[in-house]
Amino acid sequence: MKDQLLTVIGGGASGLIAAGCAVMQYRQNFSRGNNIKVQILEKMHKPGLKLGITGKGRCNLSNTAPLDDFIEHFRPNPKFLYPAFNNFFSGELIEFLNQQKVKVKVERGGRIFPQSDSALQVARTLIDWNRKLGVDINTGNAVQSVKWEKNNLYPFKIMVKQKKSIYLSSAVIISTGGITYPLTGSSGDGYKWAQQLGHRLINPLPDLVGLYIDPQLNWDFQGSVSLKNVMITLSLEKDIQHREFGEAQLSKNLFEGPVVLKLSRFAVQALQRKQQVYLYLDLKPALSEKQLDRRLIKEFNQQGSKSAVKILKCLIPLKLVDSCLSQTGVPKHLKGGQLTSIHRKKICQWIKYNRFKVKTCQTPDRAIITAGGVHTDDINPKTMMSKIIPGLFFSGEIIDYAADTGGFNLQAAFSTGWLAGKSSIEYLNSI
Ligand SMILES: Cc1cc2nc3c(=O)[nH]c(=O)nc-3n(C[C@H](O)[C@H](O)[C@H](O)COP(=O)(O)OP(=O)(O)OC[C@H]3O[C@@H](n4cnc5c(N)ncnc54)[C@H](O)[C@@H]3O)c2cc1C
Repeated sequence: MKDQLLTVIGGGASGLIAAGCAVMQYRQNFSRGNNIKVQILEKMHKPGLKLGITGKGRCNLSNTAPLDDFIEHFRPNPKFLYPAFNNFFSGELIEFLNQQKVKVKVERGGRIFPQSDSALQVARTLIDWNRKLGVDINTGNAVQSVKWEKNNLYPFKIMVKQKKSIYLSSAVIISTGGITYPLTGSSGDGYKWAQQLGHRLINPLPDLVGLYIDPQLNWDFQGSVSLKNVMITLSLEKDIQHREFGEAQLSKNLFEGPVVLKLSRFAVQALQRKQQVYLYLDLKPALSEKQLDRRLIKEFNQQGSKSAVKILKCLIPLKLVDSCLSQTGVPKHLKGGQLTSIHRKKICQWIKYNRFKVKTCQTPDRAIITAGGVHTDDINPKTMMSKIIPGLFFSGEIIDYAADTGGFNLQAAFSTGWLAGKSSIEYLNSI
């Protein structure tokens, strides 16, 4: 019987699930075999800092979409995630959380949240679960390097920065996340080790991120404007267009909100290629230009004695009315009955076709996720073990996957963590 140590680097959503699952797997199936201890090395003073701020503090845990629809929300290689989801999907996650006394609820779009609306509760629950299982959680341990020596009883040498100490491990799960929100601890450290150990890396880029536009000189409003039921079209070179419908927020030079987040990855990639990127904002996508024109005729006739401002504020957000009038050259003081067909045409065009040049995206410290990461061709999808280094596993956002908002990213972190935890124990018992 050998003494073995499994080290999970990173105590985020994925690492916490991986470590706990490893202990459960060991206790349930292998406790008569080798003597395996599990530890987490976490850089920050506390594990699960990012998990604790997810979903605006409410934690959108997962989504009720059936697997085939769920997987459609992932890129660039969704098939890679099938085995992880088949092992531990939304149903298993809900059951697991129920066992830990965390009840969940389902909201619009199938989004699953804890009933408490508390991301901190979810983070605390995972930490307590690990502690109860006897996982050694070492906080304030920023790993500096991971080395591997073939044919060694403890082939992994893990160097910790502050303490200048070395942990010798039999197997390692790297769950260090991506490059976004570095204040929560994820600053892309794991990518370097993965590359040094021979894995290919897809350039990590911010994803689900706001877009800065060239300031519109004559846009005239304070703070930000909430845009509901709008259509935004992202236009790239060679007439490539991507279109989304829903909600967005606009401040002087920044577009944010669900619609923009969905489009952001195309913009980020195009900007990387130094291409021109434009956003077209349609404030009334449910009406064609003709229908909108008819609506304007009706409003202007019926409310002939009211000012243009009063009439327009029923059609577009009040904060945008001044900009609309100044940019179309329609005098503010004109009454509905005084507006001409030329005024109408200009207003119609403004409502349906406002164009903005995208300058850049927000920096990684404001992005929700990282696209890119360790190449999925270098990881076995059935185990999450590296195809290059035996005993080395990856889980969570460090892997080259990215998904839409809606609970998909956390479920992927949980599912890949669960599979990596389970397979790492199976591996240790096989050697
Ligand atoms: C503001 C915000 C809100 C979000 N909301 C949602 C949501 O509601 N639903 C959803 O599905 N997704 C959401 N996401 C995305 C989701 O949080 C991530 O996809 C998920 O946390 C990834 O989990 P992970 O464990 O792979 O990485 P992380 O959660 O980033 O964890 C990585 C851990 O590794 C540690 N670490 C890093 N480097 C080292 C090192 N050198 N040594 C030791 N430890 C290290 C870090 O400190 C961290 O604890 C949100 C993200 C953000 C930023």
